Amino acid sequence: MKIIAPLKARDWFKWKTRINWAITIAAFIILFLILVPFVEWWLAIGVSGLGAFCLFLLYLDRRTIGIQCQSAKCLKIIETNTPWECGFKHCQNENTNAFPFINQCEHCHFIPKAYECHHCGEPIFLSKDKQKFQSAKILVIPKPSEKPAVVKDALAEKSAKQREKKQDLQHKYELTQLETNIALEKKRAIKPDELEQTRKELDRLYEKNIGKEDAGEWKKEEIRKQYADNEFEIDRRCAMV
Ligand SMILES: [Zn+2]
Ligand SMILES: [Zn+2]
Repeated sequence: MKIIAPLKARDWFKWKTRINWAITIAAFIILFLILVPFVEWWLAIGVSGLGAFCLFLLYLDRRTIGIQCQSAKCLKIIETNTPWECGFKHCQNENTNAFPFINQCEHCHFIPKAYECHHCGEPIFLSKDKQKFQSAKILVIPKPSEKPAVVKDALAEKSAKQREKKQDLQHKYELTQLETNIALEKKRAIKPDELEQTRKELDRLYEKNIGKEDAGEWKKEEIRKQYADNEFEIDRRCAMV
């Protein structure tokens, strides 16, 4: 791992490939110069080329850049290829060899000015701006929540069902009672206008019947006067009335 000062890390990353190639070419030349006095020139080129190529692929290109936390209580080394979350749009950066937090966000191209140390939480400034707002931080993908297995208590379930059924029946019973009471009340209740009407009807019938009786009595009196000396005729005619 190559440890770089945080403020120089971005520049170093930009120059990393070029520096690596320069080191590789330098290694090739040195190896060639070492080998050429002893072996044929073409063999020296082949061996030097293979050695430099291996140096580039197996070491230089894989070498990660590290920065040190600036907090006096921490001072831990942070590998810049740590998967990170962009502080601007919260993008998830996992392709960290090409897009470490000392470079830019792969998705929105935001350039972080600080990285929140994943050891102590303090910002590690990557530019002289020293802006910790929207700083990059370690990417933490939450585990899919495991739903706790529902253990059904058979007894509790049965009891709940019985309770529910009882409540339903109780409700039905109360409802029926209420409906019956309402029907009875309706039957009992006589509206004031209906009562008045009934009274009038009774008066009318009474007056009618009394009138007929009075008229009958008057007619009978008339018959008695008319046939005062004929008992037979009085009885016959009064019976007709
Ligand atoms: Zn982003
Ligand atoms: Zn720290």
